[in-house]
Amino acid sequence: MKPDRDQLSLPLLDGLAQLGFKPTAVQDIFLTHIHLDHAGAAGWWARQGARVHVHPRGARHLVDPSRLLAGAQAVYGDRMKELWGEILPAPEAYVIPVEDNQSIQVGDIELTAWDTPGHARHHHCWILDEEHIAFTGDAANVRLNRNRHIALASAPPQFDPPAFEATLSRLEKANFLELYPTHFGVVKDVSDHLSRCRQIVCGSTELVLAHLRNGLSPTAVSEHFSAYARERAERDGCPPESWDLYELINPCSMCAEGVQLFCQELLAKERPAPRRTALARTFHAQKRLFALICWK
Ligand SMILES: [Zn+2]
Repeated sequence: MKPDRDQLSLPLLDGLAQLGFKPTAVQDIFLTHIHLDHAGAAGWWARQGARVHVHPRGARHLVDPSRLLAGAQAVYGDRMKELWGEILPAPEAYVIPVEDNQSIQVGDIELTAWDTPGHARHHHCWILDEEHIAFTGDAANVRLNRNRHIALASAPPQFDPPAFEATLSRLEKANFLELYPTHFGVVKDVSDHLSRCRQIVCGSTELVLAHLRNGLSPTAVSEHFSAYARERAERDGCPPESWDLYELINPCSMCAEGVQLFCQELLAKERPAPRRTALARTFHAQKRLFALICWK
């Protein structure tokens, strides 16, 4: 499901080779979303002839990754090359936009796309109908190998708590037998996991909102966010080496930025619009008058 990032020395390619397959045997790639840790090698796979199935909002960024790369550059800075290798544009003919509820038949299995915003607006979960399981990408957050701890997946810039909650409700209603978050392993306590995801989305957002309202600096808010995550991890019995892995995959500092971005936009909307100056009032009155004259 997840193409790997380095196209030359790949555990994924090694795994395929061990099973007796060449890369060209991979015909279909199902992307949950286009963040580089999920889709960084999608262009490479498409160039080997694989169809890349993706949310319609993500499709054009695979064909022309320039905006995607600019956004990632802002987050990762000079670690881009080291983290992601070379990001290649995908040939348009191999990028298949898939709508909500659309099913794709591959051999004898069928996968259905669910539009699942909240982590990103271009996010699909892929549902394996026959097994009643869901590949959740980052829509059900991050939970690493058998740990109880759930880390909020709120990388900037599209973290949207109300949309995230709606996605969690949709997943809850389906009563899936298992979830497969991309970061990683299987979640078997599905109902408990999803209800804890809801608490984490709400709790983290409320915490950040409260600190921003109290006038704390972005750095101080980020520290509070990290302390809250750390506290939850300790309560969940997450060992230090697992915490380090969580931090490597989904750093608190990055996730704090995503939540702050949402909260700052929310606070900006709450603030009353600045009062118009006398000059602006005259200008707007004249504009209304002009419109009235033109209308007549
Ligand atoms: Zn992501």
